[in-house]
Amino acid sequence: MATGRCQCGAIQYEARGDPVYSALCHCADCRRSAGAPMVGWALFAQGDLTVNGEPLLYRSSENATRHFCGACGTGLFYTNPVSFPDMIDIQTATLDDPAIFPPAIHVQYAEAAPWMEKAHDLPKFDRYPAE
Ligand SMILES: [Zn+2]
Ligand SMILES: [Zn+2]
Repeated sequence: MATGRCQCGAIQYEARGDPVYSALCHCADCRRSAGAPMVGWALFAQGDLTVNGEPLLYRSSENATRHFCGACGTGLFYTNPVSFPDMIDIQTATLDDPAIFPPAIHVQYAEAAPWMEKAHDLPKFDRYPAE
């Protein structure tokens, strides 16, 4: 069982079993909604997710609803009854164990930030670079 929460802890959840997939999404909607260059998602059957707390809902497109914490703003879930009936996507960055459900694929890569292809070739610092 996997557990997770928003940053402030007002919303906590448990997911049972393994996700249908774990992916990094590069779509413009995810990017803008999260304020981040990509968003990790793990798709579960709605019945396998238990949520404590009341996320706020935002309709980000005709069929898509994003669920987030109204206190701290953390994005948590995504539902789309047309694309993913009876399923719910969990933002994997909210899982307590960051090693669980590593992404296996990139999706919506057609919309990726133009510099994404080379992002992992950039210099890496354990903290910030020394002056
Ligand atoms: Zn919160
Ligand atoms: Zn997306």
